[in-house]
This record gives sequence, C-alpha cells and structure tokens, in this order.
Amino acid sequence: MCGIVGYVGPKVATPLLLDGLKRLEYRGYDSAGVAIMNGAGVKTVKEAGKIAKLESLLALTPVEGTTGIAHTRWATHGPPNQVNAHPHMSQDGTIAVVHNGIIENATVLKQMLEGRGYVFTSDTDTEVLAHLIEECFDGNLEDAVLEALWQVEGTYGIAVISSVDSHKIVAARKGSPLLLGLGDKENFIASDVSAILSHTRQVIYLEDGEMAVLDEAGYRVIDMNAVEIQKKVAHIDWDLAQIERGGYAHFMLKEIFEQPQTVENTMRGRLLDDEGTSKLGGLNLSDEELLSFTNIVITACGTSWHSALIGEHMLEELARIPVEVEYASEFRYRNPVVDSKTLCIVISQSGETADTLAAMREAKRRGARTLGLVNVVGSTIAREADGGIYLHAGPEIGVASTKAFTSQVVALLLFTLKLGRLRGALSQQRGSEIIAGMRALPGQIRQVLERAQEIEDIAEEYKRASNFLYLGRGYNFPVALEGALKLKEISYIHAEGYPAAEMKHGPIALIDEMMPVVFIAPHDSVFEKITSNVHEVKARKGRVIAVTSRDESALDGMLDYEFRIPETIDLLMPVLASVPLQLLAYYVAVKRGANVDQPRNLAKSVTVE
Ligand code: GLU
Repeated sequence: MCGIVGYVGPKVATPLLLDGLKRLEYRGYDSAGVAIMNGAGVKTVKEAGKIAKLESLLALTPVEGTTGIAHTRWATHGPPNQVNAHPHMSQDGTIAVVHNGIIENATVLKQMLEGRGYVFTSDTDTEVLAHLIEECFDGNLEDAVLEALWQVEGTYGIAVISSVDSHKIVAARKGSPLLLGLGDKENFIASDVSAILSHTRQVIYLEDGEMAVLDEAGYRVIDMNAVEIQKKVAHIDWDLAQIERGGYAHFMLKEIFEQPQTVENTMRGRLLDDEGTSKLGGLNLSDEELLSFTNIVITACGTSWHSALIGEHMLEELARIPVEVEYASEFRYRNPVVDSKTLCIVISQSGETADTLAAMREAKRRGARTLGLVNVVGSTIAREADGGIYLHAGPEIGVASTKAFTSQVVALLLFTLKLGRLRGALSQQRGSEIIAGMRALPGQIRQVLERAQEIEDIAEEYKRASNFLYLGRGYNFPVALEGALKLKEISYIHAEGYPAAEMKHGPIALIDEMMPVVFIAPHDSVFEKITSNVHEVKARKGRVIAVTSRDESALDGMLDYEFRIPETIDLLMPVLASVPLQLLAYYVAVKRGANVDQPRNLAKSVTVE
C-alpha cells in the first residue's frame, strides 16, 4: 500500500515521477503529490483523489527541477484529503517526506514536538517525521534522518529531500518495501519495480534497518549506525508489456485472460509425469528435512488465504499430514503450537503483505522452517523465507487478485505432489493422473474464457442485486469464499461464501426471490450432496446460478442460469470454477459503473497491518 517514487538526475523530474506514480497507483489512490527541488527551495504540489487530478494540477502549475519525490496514498491516519496528502513538509519548509507505513508512537512524538513549538497541519502520523527530521537537522540530511528514525516506532518506507542539503534523496526502510533503481548518472527510489522499469532494470532491494543516500553520481547504503553496507545489484527481467493493459479495458480483465498462460508458467519445467511428482528448485529443503515435519501451518491473508484452504485439503488428502490454515493477522498475535517440526507455508502475491511477513517471522522465531509461495521475485518474503516456490504469473496489477490465485492453487498442488510421493502417501499412478489433469488445465481455462459472453449475460441479469450468496462443498468451498470476495471487492455488492450444507444453519433465512445464489456444483465426489442444497434454495424461491461440469438430471428445472466448465479431477476444479466467478464479478462491477482496477478503499500489496 502507498506508492513511493523518487528521482535524482539530470532530467526534469515531474514527468518521470508522474509516470512512476501511475504505475504504482494500484497501491493506493486516495491522494497523490510531488515535492521537487527547484532551485528556490522545495516545492510541493498535492491533490486529493487519483493521480490524474494531480497531473491536471501540475499541468496548470508546472514545477521545474531535477530532484524529487512523489507519493500515492492509501490513508491510515486521517481522511484522504489534500492536507493529508503526502509529501509532508517540515515547519521551516526545507524538508519534504513521503512515507509508507504507520508511525506507532506518533502521538507521543507529536506532543513532544508541539512542546518545542512545532505546529501540525495534517491528521497524519507522517507529519511527525517531517518535523522530527527538521528538529534533528544540522546541515546533513542523512544524519538528521538517522537520528529521527532512532526515535520512531512502527513501520516505514520513506524518502526525504531537503533544500539545504540538496540534490540527494535519503530513503530508509523498516517494514515497508523500497528499492533503488540504478541508472546512468541518475538514480531512483521506488516502492516496487514497476515504477522504474522503463528507466532501469538494475535494482537494489533495501532491507529493514537500512538507509540509502542517492545522488546523480551514485548511492550508498548504510545501517542504522551509519556503517556502510555492500549490497547486491539485482537484474529485473520483466517485460515492460507485462505491466501495460495491452488493449484490455482493465488490468483485471487482462489478468483473467492471461490465466491459460500463467497457470502454464507456474507448472513449467516442474512436472515429472512418469514419477507422478514435481521438481521444485527453490525449496532449499532436503528430502530428509521434508520428511521430518509433523505438521504444516499455512498462513496468508485475503485471496491467498482462500488458496491456502484449498492447499490444506490437497495436502491432507494426498500427503496425509496435518495442516492448519491461519489468517496471518491472527496467527502472529496468538500463541500457536509451532516448532522445528512445523513447516510454515506463507502465501502472498506481492511477497510484501505486512501481516503475512510478520507471521512468517514469528513462525521462524519459534523454530519453524518457512516456505514462501510468492509471485514477486526478490520481494521481502521471498528473500526471508528459508525456501520458496515462485508463481511465475507475471506482474499482477489489478487490485482484485485473479491470476495469482489460480497459480497459488497450482503451486500448492506441485508441493503436494512432492510431499505426497515422498511420504509414500501418494502412489506414482495417482500422481501421474493428477499431472495429466494439470497438463490439460491451460487448454480448459481457455475454453472457459472463450465463453465469457455467457457470464456477461448472467451479470446483466443480476447486476442490480444487493446481496449474493456463494455456496460450494469440499474443494469448492474456498472457491465460494473467493467468488464472494471478488464480487464484494469490485462491485460493492454484499456477498457471502459458505459451505453449501452450512447454509441451513443461518444464511438460508436470507433466501427469497431477490437472492441470487451461486452454486459451485461440478461433477465431483460431493455433487449429490450439493444437489440437495440446490433444492433447498429453490424451494425458497432463491435464484440459482450454477457452475456445473456436465448435464445433470438431478438439477433439471432447478437452475435459473448454468455455466458449464470442462471436467477435471476434483482437486483441479477450483482452478476452472474460479474463472467464471472472476468474470462474473468483473462484468457485474463494470455494468454498475465501478472502477474495477481501483476499487474504493482497497489497495494492492497490503504493507500496513
Ligand atoms: N500512515 C500514512 C498516512 O496515513 C501512510 C499510509 C500508508 O502507508 O499507506 O498517510
């Protein structure tokens, strides 16, 4: 959450910063602003709302200058108005700060600073930093930032400029991602690589407790005691086209349609058909170590938590090992039974999710080995986990996660194959059958996508509904949760996902002729059970939309709408069944005029707790 970008070099900074902000807009879009060193001092321009509004304002009041920082905000403290927009200025107007994170002792610091005569103008926690750095400033910006940060509790990724110690950017990180982009006589700072990819592919990831000082000529990275650190330069090989919309109306739609390819990429080179297992190069765990685990904890948030539930089902069925799935935000604050016999799998698309990262660190502290299922190469979770499985799904920009979800399910299955075969719980023959099913998936997803129009028609019919219920059983219960979440996120329709049979214990009271109920009812081992639930809904005049996989006489006359997906084995159904639900959420949202790529109040890469 929150996008930061900074530039120091010979070029005019504003267009570069605006371009960077636009690429970071999925991280937050409550307000945006820039601070530029323009010879006369630091000039800030900021505006509530989306980056386009800042851009219009900058067109009216252009700011010249070749050093600058910029920010797109996802508000934690104070409403998303112009005053609370970043950058925040020190009282004397010489220092500008952009910040991603939360300053936890902001109230205490504010009182202290007010006691020394500082006047606060915004509601943000961030403003404290600007005044505190001024208070510590004695001619050298990095010294002042260091001294200030020693007094700060909480999380931050910050970038700071000063008109007194000018032509440099000081950046520091604790808990919120930041990276340096290294160019030719120019350097960048950014929250993630998409902001700077059109300028450089050479990056340095800052770790927690590190500070960087950048100018035109180069950079230095130091620790909190000002001791210089030698950093490795990483090369990014993402293609620029991957972070563009490429003719699609929205990133989300593009990403839904990419899934045949992204699922293929997750599996590529990892399937051993004849042995019925997988080859995973990044696990960093020997077979002996894998066999030593007595239990698995999977921890994640949001959509990743849904894929974790599917992973639990797979691992318990095929590897016969006890698995628990935990919300990362809960796991980290309780006293879980986790030790060196536990494997902790952490799932995060961005690899930066604050709660998931903290949960992983907590599991490590308790002696567990950790495995990251992450999409963004080089992200914090990827770097800190003992081992990992990259999704290789390419950049996901749409705030509502789609392709990362299907790739997570596939990656969990890859790991299940490996562990199941190793533990002797999965036969070679069953493993090979599953792999045959996996190989067919990309083509089957394509078949689903070819019929997107059918889903659009369903969306047209139900776009005015104010509630939706999603029901599934077995492997498809988490699909119901995910379908409901997608709809909530982007269309703002209230939706609930439930295990189909649980409906009788409460939600059935909501059913009437106004209530669309989406059943995920492919032909699997629990199909007969779910047909009874369909009948229960129909008997109460609910409107039934069903995702099925074959002509079922048991459902004759029961369905208002049916969408047929190809047949596959039970444990792959979630991948195929989630695609029409993604499309349903998408089309409903578009028809209701919602901004699909930037849903209200949400942002991607949730780097605050
Ligand atoms: N806490 C800061 C604010 O509310 C930054 C929020 C963020 O990182 O998203 O402005």
